[in-house]
Amino acid sequence: MPDDATRDHAHKLLQAKRGGRWYEAGLRFRCLAPDCVACCSGKRGPGYVWVNPTEMLALAEFLGLDFDDFTRKFVRQSHNRYSLIERQNFDCVFLKDGGCSVYPARPTQCRTYPFWHEVLESEATWQHESTECPGIHNDAPIVPATDVARQVNEDRANRGIPARD
Ligand code: SF4
Ligand code: SF4
Repeated sequence: MPDDATRDHAHKLLQAKRGGRWYEAGLRFRCLAPDCVACCSGKRGPGYVWVNPTEMLALAEFLGLDFDDFTRKFVRQSHNRYSLIERQNFDCVFLKDGGCSVYPARPTQCRTYPFWHEVLESEATWQHESTECPGIHNDAPIVPATDVARQVNEDRANRGIPARD
């Protein structure tokens, strides 16, 4: 898989060629939670829900735990990053009773999905994501391109990657 710098370069080339974002007209999406929890469940296999210290603090506070207790119980380290742990079936540890049990304090990665740069690489990657996320469908309301781009950049900032135009 290409690294972030290569993807950024390709993205900028494509943008210049097209004279704008491919999703300039906005994207159709409405999250179907709590009727759908596909992105929180392990049905796509193991994964990571990345959390930074600010997000860990917010989650700890939401759960009424101190920071050390929270991290000991719910956080794992992968290289130089931190992720929430998952259950044996790869569900997020906070997926409970068919919903997110920490919804008001959920991490940026959760709030911004499916507006992640890798999902928005092209129309094809967006269409492909619709096979995983039923909220992406032709009858969903249009999310304006500026909102999409804001969320992409929020997620990128959270990963320590510079914003895109
Ligand atoms: S998979 Fe899509 S529709 Fe389902 S909960 Fe996640 S964002 Fe919402
Ligand atoms: S923190 Fe909540 S929204 Fe995020 S993956 Fe876990 S259950 Fe889903």
